[in-house]
Amino acid sequence: MEALDGFYHSHDVEEHYSQLKEAVIMMVDDEPIMMELVQAYLEEEGYRNFITLNQSSQALQVLNRERPDVLLLDLNMPGVEGFDILDRIRACRELRHMPVIVLTSSTDPESKLKALALGAADFLAKPVDQSELMLRIRNTLTVKAYHNQLAFYDELTGLPNRKLFLDRLDWAIRRAARGEQQVAVIHIGLNKFKQVNESLGPQVGDMLLKLISKRLLNCVQNDAVLNRLGNEELWRNVSRLGGDEFSILVPQVPHAENIGLLARSVLDALGGVFEIDGHEVCVSASMGIAVYPGDGAESDALIKHAGVAAGHAKQRGGSSYQFYSKEINGLSRERFRLEADLRRALEREEFELYYQPKIQVSTGRLIGMEALLRWHHPRDGMILPHKFIPLAEESDLIVPIGDWVIDQACRQNRQWQSEYGIQDLKIAVNVSAQQLRRHHLSRSIKDVLSASGMLPDHLMVEITESMVIEDTENCVQILYELRDHGVHISLDDFGTGYSSLSYLKRLPIDELKVDRSFLVDFQGDDDSSAIFKAIIALSHSLDLTVVAEGVETEQQLHFLREERCDLIQGHYFSKPLSANDFLKFVGQRRAAV
Ligand code: C2E
Ligand code: MG
Ligand code: MG
Repeated sequence: MEALDGFYHSHDVEEHYSQLKEAVIMMVDDEPIMMELVQAYLEEEGYRNFITLNQSSQALQVLNRERPDVLLLDLNMPGVEGFDILDRIRACRELRHMPVIVLTSSTDPESKLKALALGAADFLAKPVDQSELMLRIRNTLTVKAYHNQLAFYDELTGLPNRKLFLDRLDWAIRRAARGEQQVAVIHIGLNKFKQVNESLGPQVGDMLLKLISKRLLNCVQNDAVLNRLGNEELWRNVSRLGGDEFSILVPQVPHAENIGLLARSVLDALGGVFEIDGHEVCVSASMGIAVYPGDGAESDALIKHAGVAAGHAKQRGGSSYQFYSKEINGLSRERFRLEADLRRALEREEFELYYQPKIQVSTGRLIGMEALLRWHHPRDGMILPHKFIPLAEESDLIVPIGDWVIDQACRQNRQWQSEYGIQDLKIAVNVSAQQLRRHHLSRSIKDVLSASGMLPDHLMVEITESMVIEDTENCVQILYELRDHGVHISLDDFGTGYSSLSYLKRLPIDELKVDRSFLVDFQGDDDSSAIFKAIIALSHSLDLTVVAEGVETEQQLHFLREERCDLIQGHYFSKPLSANDFLKFVGQRRAAV
């Protein structure tokens, strides 16, 4: 059912058929070679999603779990026969309507009649003829899509109806239970819809519901929402439960408080005026959010609690949302408060850069520093990056903040050079994925360099593995532009992500920073030290400088010296320091060396 959703929303025949190719096709046959052949035929035609099973005894279990769009079922199998499976499919509430095409080598009409009586949708004779196979599959899927449209979609808006919503919610809960994940149900109730219906007539009411469903769909596809929830298929889960009630199912929710962002954009989306037949219509919505498993283990409880929360929101006055859980309500408020404060932090000059020294292991010399952002919150005091950088990244604030960081770091280093004669330090700045993606990073870095008068050779840009993996082409191009300009590139937090060594060669990097986690439980002769040794050897063979992050003890330093690690950054030498303290540190270091 999943893959065929929306089939009848498009009016283009070509599009119809290409949508069918998304269908999940399951085959149960005791001869794997048969299934391979059928799959090869279907793949040739563009179908892509297959489940094959030659143990007929597991068929029901797999069907229940995977819910394919169509089943190709062999009738004659040892153990559990095709007929038995058909029988049990029809007895099962969730599977009853799944179309089954029966594959049979027997030409006898009796078994065909029996299969028909058991509800088989169609037959296919073995050996399978390719064109016949295509036709049967296509017809069966088309009928199924049509049936789905009638049974599972709201006629007026084209959105999934309550039945489909419930089915998906049950499914999402079962999946979440296996993976220990969260599922959110957002209940959306329209305020004053009844008045519109009564005063302007049901036709205007219907139009309004259609426009509302469009706005809901648009809103769910909004960039910021996708960024935070990372679920591009979310629009499929916008449903109309009936009357003036809508619902959104979010099947995977890492941080429940983030659902607040979606709720807020729904409120914004529904907030404006709707123009219908010369009337200007305004509505507002009250929304409630319930999260599995905290707010209920079953779909009924979740739906009920989302409704209860929506009721609370309504009492508070229209156009608002409320989580069922007090705790998440608090977290969500806290998040929005911080985000709102973050929006003003730049203009209020609440940011400061700290600088953590980088030391050359062989000589003990200070060779550079990493600029690390600190936020002096007017009420909460100093906030560390892990608490606000993710917020900044999700809301795009990271771009102006990142610009400020680069600018400030370059100016500061230039000032130390010109006023204190500290000539040879490379300053490193961290950049985020958004800065690389949404921004002409190389252009703005060049501008900053010329404005501050600092040489590109004194700047290092730290990127992380995941940034490269997500957007390799674009990323590689920007990094080459920077390198050609003379800026150095460092790969940060190495070892925490994919650690794919193949792209190390493709990237114009100068330095590898091994993540702090390798040193955390360091005992000197364990797995981490073996990995460390391997990384150092590899980096040197690629002519990269290796930096160990998070060095805290003499023992760690000793090991790293033995292994010829190049640079060290960590509390052993110094924590990140304010600009003034960093200057003092430089003075002490000079006196000591
Ligand atoms: P990072 O780039 O890997 O920075 C190193 C982090 O490790 C810093 O945390 C630093 O204070 C900490 N650290 C260094 N040595 C030690 C040690 O010996 N022991 C322990 N326990 N910690 C050590 P910080 O400053 O909290 O920054 C955390 C992360 O936030 C950074 O990780 C970086 O990814 C990000 N970040 C910081 N400033 C910026 C910025 O201006 N822009 C962006 N996009 N991200 C930033
Ligand atoms: Mg860093
Ligand atoms: Mg790091």
